[in-house]
Amino acid sequence: MDILKNYINGNWQDSLCKQTIDVVNPANQVVLAKVPFGADTKTDVEECVLYANKAYQEWSQVPVIKRVQVLYKLKTLLEENKDVLAEIITNESGKTKAESLGEIQRAIENVEVACGTPMLMTGDVIEDIATGIDEMMIRQPLGVTACITPFNFPSMIVFWFLPYAIATGNAFIVKPSEKVPLTMVKIFEFIDKLDLPKGLVSLVHGGKESVDAILEHPNIKAISFVGSTPVARYIYSKGTANGKRVQAQGGAKNPVVVLPDADIEMSTKIIADSVYGCAGQRCLAASTIITVGDSKKEIKDAIYEHVKTRTTGYGGNEDVSMGPVITPESKNRIEGLIQKGIDEGAEILLDGRNATIPGYENGNFIKPTILENVALDKELIRTEIFGPVMSLIAMSSIEEAVEFVNKGNYGNMACLFTSSGASARKFRSEANAGNIGINIGVAAPMAQFPFSGWKDSFFGDLHGQGKHAIEFFTQTKVIIERWPNIWSRKF
Ligand code: NAD
Repeated sequence: MDILKNYINGNWQDSLCKQTIDVVNPANQVVLAKVPFGADTKTDVEECVLYANKAYQEWSQVPVIKRVQVLYKLKTLLEENKDVLAEIITNESGKTKAESLGEIQRAIENVEVACGTPMLMTGDVIEDIATGIDEMMIRQPLGVTACITPFNFPSMIVFWFLPYAIATGNAFIVKPSEKVPLTMVKIFEFIDKLDLPKGLVSLVHGGKESVDAILEHPNIKAISFVGSTPVARYIYSKGTANGKRVQAQGGAKNPVVVLPDADIEMSTKIIADSVYGCAGQRCLAASTIITVGDSKKEIKDAIYEHVKTRTTGYGGNEDVSMGPVITPESKNRIEGLIQKGIDEGAEILLDGRNATIPGYENGNFIKPTILENVALDKELIRTEIFGPVMSLIAMSSIEEAVEFVNKGNYGNMACLFTSSGASARKFRSEANAGNIGINIGVAAPMAQFPFSGWKDSFFGDLHGQGKHAIEFFTQTKVIIERWPNIWSRKF
């Protein structure tokens, strides 16, 4: 069984850590590889930073127009290898093939946007800010930067950061989730083919120990994190206390409000895709569906009929619309939360627990589940489920629904389904969430926009993607200059 190697100083090398954990296919528990996981991964990080810092000195002097040339090649390599990557993503994360291809596409779009860095990182200048004095602002890279990523998007999330970090002149270290490291190993085979200084982009494996080494290393200047809220909070507080720039995306609990004037057929399909896509393991998965007034019965019946047609199974099979959840522990946790909801008074309309998929009896499968009349003051309504579970609740007005949305601890996404422009306008203005969808079920910002998030879903100032990423990976320098006017002199 392969023990995964780190990619440090442009070479594939064994980790100094001899402890490993298994990387497991969640559809059948087959062990795909072993990944270093333990205290000695700290030494891997230290070695990696040493080379990254050297590479940064060279790379930051390369003109930005030349730096982005490697991104054009990276885009081509990702496009040419989409199917290979999708197969790896499906096998290690459980996604369907279409979902895996979809996330690779989003990764590629970030590479495309970062190709515009020569334009995106331009500064400002005012001539004659005072007589004979000019003032300008330029953007310079930070040094060695790093990202720590979650299991649910093995390829895409790294690309909210990586292309922007290197295009702006930084070195970059990737610490992928120990649950899904194989996708990044494959992507680093492509990175190895790029014309970059050795050590500029590196891959280190591990869990808490390698993360702590990143948080503590004085030569790492900025950290991008995506994962659960408790870990995001930890990364933000420890990273900033150590003087680093940190952006930390956390968990979510996304509400969707359906007004009586919504288009039922369209809304039903979009909402079901949002709740059950990627088996509910998306930070932008809809979780609580709030029907307002008369929409309750119609929406409930339509969703129930639609959801029954979804097929759960191994994501690599063409007819499957939903794969397994990531681990047996996740499955137990989600099934426990469903039971908790029932114990707290909810009615179960569709029970996806105890699912058995022929040929995949050991997989972590939960079929689509719908709970109705979930109590508003209880745990299920506050907790991120991160599984294929819809909680239906009914309210009598849009004001009541917005108040409910705004009371939530998380603020990753809130969506409204309506055919009224006035309701849409009120909602987008008043809902306290970083990403708003109007007749959209997964309001995932495209690469040109910041991947926003409010409240407990985000710690920091600048987000990943687009102009925010360019700002995050650069520091501004202001120059004020005056020159003696030699033209007026007589020589
Ligand atoms: P996680 O927080 O368990 O792990 C994320 C990363 O942190 C991994 O690389 C892991 O090795 C590391 N880590 C875990 N525990 C740690 C600890 N105690 N100290 C230091 N590092 C630690 O998250 P996950 O289960 O992999 O991913 C699912 C979570 O990510 C969900 O909560 C989901 O909402 C969130 N998520 C958020 C966004 C967003 O944009 N807001 C996007 C995707 C996923």
